[in-house]
Formats: sequence, C-alpha cells, structure tokens
Amino acid sequence: MQDAGVVTGVAVAVEGDRIIAVGPQPTLEREHPDSTRVDCHNRVLTPGLVDSHTHAIFGKARFEEQELRASGLDYMEIARRGGGIHSSVRDLRGRGEDELLDLAAPRLARLAASGVTTVEVKSGYGLTPEDELKSLRVIRRLGERLPMRLVPTWLGAHEIPMEFRELPDGRSEYVRLLVSTMLPGVASGMLARFADVFCEPGVFTIEEARTILTAAQSAGLGLKLHADELRPSGGAELAAELGATSADHLAAISESGIRVLAASNTVATLLPGTMLFLGKEKQAPARALIDAGAAVALATDFNPGTSPTTNFPLVMTLGVSQLRMSVAEAVVASTVNGAAALSLADRVGQIAPGYSADLALFDASDVRELPYWYGDRRCIATWARGRACHNSNGETL
Ligand SMILES: [Zn+2]
Repeated sequence: MQDAGVVTGVAVAVEGDRIIAVGPQPTLEREHPDSTRVDCHNRVLTPGLVDSHTHAIFGKARFEEQELRASGLDYMEIARRGGGIHSSVRDLRGRGEDELLDLAAPRLARLAASGVTTVEVKSGYGLTPEDELKSLRVIRRLGERLPMRLVPTWLGAHEIPMEFRELPDGRSEYVRLLVSTMLPGVASGMLARFADVFCEPGVFTIEEARTILTAAQSAGLGLKLHADELRPSGGAELAAELGATSADHLAAISESGIRVLAASNTVATLLPGTMLFLGKEKQAPARALIDAGAAVALATDFNPGTSPTTNFPLVMTLGVSQLRMSVAEAVVASTVNGAAALSLADRVGQIAPGYSADLALFDASDVRELPYWYGDRRCIATWARGRACHNSNGETL
C-alpha cells in the first residue's frame, strides 16, 4: 500500500470497455493515430474509485436526527422517538420499486460525479422477503440503466425488525426467516453477489452471524460483515474464519482481531465518514492494521442515518487526516483494495492493460491534491467500462 504507482507523462489507450495500453504519450499517439483524444495534461487521472460499502437504496433522508444527536440524545432515545434504522424500514416498505429507483439513481450519479465508477449497494431497509427482494431488484435495474458497475449485497440481517422484536422467540424466528425463506429467494433470483450481516452486541450475535453467513456461503454468495463498529465482539475474527471478502467498520477491533485479519485474505474496509458524522472521537486503527499487514480499503458507508455523503475524495481526506494513512495508502485503499473488497481486483481498480476502462479525471496536478482540497468536488469526469459516467465542464471528453 506504500506505492500507488504514480507516473507522469503517460497516456492511456482504451478500446471498447478495456484499457489496452499505458505508456509514453508520443508512442501511444503514434500507435493509435485515429483515436478520440481526451486531454489530461496537468490533471490527475486515477482508476475509477471503488466504493465498496453503501446503503444507497432508501426512501427519505433522516436529517432531523443529526440535531437530536448533537443535543445529546443517544441512539436508543432517537429510536424511541421514531427515528433510527426502523424509520427507514417503515419508509421503504411503503414505497414502490419505481419510486425507490428514481430516488437512488441521482444519488449514484452524485457518487459518479465524485470519481466513483464501481459501487457496492446493499439492501437492508426492507427486512421482509418481499421488501428485500424489491430492494435488490432496484439495484439490478439501476445496474442495467447506469454506466457504473453496481455490486449488489443482500443485508437482510441489518437489524431485527420491530414485528419480530415483540415476539418471545422473535430473534431466532427472524434468523430462520433469513436462512429458510429470504436467502433462497435471493440466491435463486441471482439478485446478490454478497451477503452481509450487522454483527454487533444488541443486533446480531457472533453465533447468529455465523449461521446466516454459513448458509449464504453454501448458497454461493460471497461474504461481508459489519464488524466491531462499537465494541470488540469478535466480528473481525469471524470474518477471517469464514473467509469473508471483507470485514467493515472495525473502529473497535481488538488486538487479536487485527492479527487475525492481517494473516487472512479478508479486506479491512474502514468508513471514517461515519465516525465523523456521528461525532465519535474513535476511528478505526488503520495504522495498526496496515502495519500488521492487513489490506485496508476506504468506503463512504453512504446511508441516510450515519453517513449521508456521496463525496468519496472527502473520505480519502479523512483517511489521511484522521486515520493517519499516507496519500499512497489512501489512493490504494480507494481503488485496488476497494476492488479486492468486492472480489474484482483482477479487472477493476488499476490503470493497466486488460483492466476495465474505469477512469476518473480530477482538476488537480498532483495526486496529493485529492485528499488536500477537502470537501471540494474536483472530479471533472468519470468513465466506467469506457462509457462516460460524469462530465462536469462540458468539454468534449
Ligand atoms: Zn454499513
């Protein structure tokens, strides 16, 4: 992660949806005299950024909770007043598929406008078989409509729904519903690439997460885990044990969790925007993870409750300023390692021959400017699979 492979004076040749050559500009101009040219002179061209953790399928925003939190109310009190994740669940259940699609499309366009060309999108505000499948169908349709690459994740285990919380044996009944009814529907419809569980004391336990993820693995899904966000409960260890593709959050990961993740192929996906927005002082121990040898990715965690941002470069800023990563580490965490967190590292996240023509062009002359102009939107254009996703200044690109 120390070397982002930054080079100057080169050109990139794209044919169809692939990068076919990277090399000195005069050479490539000679070899491809009839190509359409995009002038990147004095600008920074990166691989399209990879946002490997979002909850972009939701209905209403939840801005009223921000002030309540600032005034000192905790999560439980906000939930008691009708806020929190259950309010997003009630809201999403009342909306149709087309409506959810129309709400999500401009949000994803805003991500593309910040440099993102690959985005993982989770279900998880439905929590019934019908509403989870509805959310996943919305992701599929968005993937067909938008040039960006969308990676769908089933997060039926985002929370125990209210109607099950009220039952005496509700927890285990909901886990049974997830495994016996929801999962077969998701798998048979090929609606998700990954399964994810919110594993945290008070939500799903380690044992429940193991049951759900083992079943998902048998059904052919890759695994992700919301792990050790608030308390070290062994989530990172479980992710490594099951061979999960990523363990996400990790602000409260234990020493043993760091060691186990570092020795595994599981990517540690850190979401510093969430901690910033919630006003938490504790950030994930990125330095300890990287120094131990773990592969660290950065992502927005874009969601209506705890991280309503589509500004990926801002997350890179937090990576450097809050997580003490070097710029090279933040760039690798936002490209190569983000791709690895989605099992796409063989085709996405690098500017190299054979890789998907996913590119982002920034109004900056040095890559270190990406995290530097914090909160700014410097992305000029993005392309996914060789197709334009975003073009901010009307130039012919
Ligand atoms: Zn999340």
